[in-house]
Amino acid sequence: LLTSARRGRSGQVVGVMGCMAQRLGRSVLDKVPRLDFVVGTRRLAAIPAIVECVRAGHGPVVDTEEGVAFDEALDGHDERGVAAYINILLGCDRRCTYCIVPAVRGPEWSRPAAGVLAEARALADAGVRDVTLLGQSVTMYGRRGPPVWPAAALSPRGFAEPLPRLIEAVGAVEGIGRVRFTSGHPAGCTPELVRAIAEVGAACEHLHLPLQSGSDRVLDAMRRGYTTEDYRRAAGRLRAAMPELALTTDAIVGFPSESEEDFERTRAFMDEMAFDNAFVFKYSPRPGTVAAGWNDDVPEAEKMRRNQVLLADQESRGLRLNERLVGRRVEVLVEGASLRNEKRWTGRTRTNKIVVFEPREGVRAGDMVQVDVDRAMPQTLYGTIGR
Ligand code: SF4
Repeated sequence: LLTSARRGRSGQVVGVMGCMAQRLGRSVLDKVPRLDFVVGTRRLAAIPAIVECVRAGHGPVVDTEEGVAFDEALDGHDERGVAAYINILLGCDRRCTYCIVPAVRGPEWSRPAAGVLAEARALADAGVRDVTLLGQSVTMYGRRGPPVWPAAALSPRGFAEPLPRLIEAVGAVEGIGRVRFTSGHPAGCTPELVRAIAEVGAACEHLHLPLQSGSDRVLDAMRRGYTTEDYRRAAGRLRAAMPELALTTDAIVGFPSESEEDFERTRAFMDEMAFDNAFVFKYSPRPGTVAAGWNDDVPEAEKMRRNQVLLADQESRGLRLNERLVGRRVEVLVEGASLRNEKRWTGRTRTNKIVVFEPREGVRAGDMVQVDVDRAMPQTLYGTIGR
């Protein structure tokens, strides 16, 4: 990656950020010598300043400051023109055996609603229309840490639980047409939460609900805290309330001791769940995690094969699901010119599907348009703005 980035464009700034960067700090520079920066999980908001610093010739920069106040850590959003992320929850109280997040980011901590709403208003003023509320296990919002709402009163729609109240409040911010939240956890898909998503007009029919494995034995070894039956129930509840729901997921292949039978269970379960999209990862041990002490016994070539099989399954499943939309009209939030072809424009549906279409006079980024879908690919829909 580094070599091709360097060859491709001079002036490119390349850095590493996230949990492993936080944990390894400066030593990442020894492993990847031409890196420009290493940034920890609580310093994401500092990245623009760090990039400037590198461009001014003061790199490489290592910033894995541990003592940053939570408010500062959360005071930053990832803005993508008309869409943006808002951090609402940091850290995690779970203990999945392969994951370094709890050790690096600390216990779960929810951001008070007032700060989230202030950020949502500022984003709406800047032209953002689609907001994703972000957290490791976001369905736990408000259940750990300090109170997130000043009073226990119900929301205007009668929601008592913190996340539904927040979704409703962000959705009520003028200009915000869509609200999403990621990532979910099956344990958090309570009837109250599902009712809220279905009832709040701005809440999109899209949820990223990591599965990781379709084998109960592997889920137990991962300490995910649910079985496939729990997951099935959560997905069923969501789909009963929102028949149009697009469900996306993560899966890990080659977890220690994962047998061919376990893997085939994952394949079958992913098919049963009819995921609209899936991110598939080959297991690799993270130092400091429980699973790192176990025998990493699935050979690399086999991990690669399982990875390719799940991706191929997802390609055909994605195509099959998208083809059902051909001939239908979908609401699209216009993002602007396509990166691949400037003569085409792109946007996203409420279900987070990318739609490519011909631009039309007077249509601008941030507009909602109705697009008639005439062609489908596994990851993309193509169509024409409807009259
Ligand atoms: Fe928490 Fe498990 Fe997600 Fe890691 S993988 S952030 S431990 S829920």
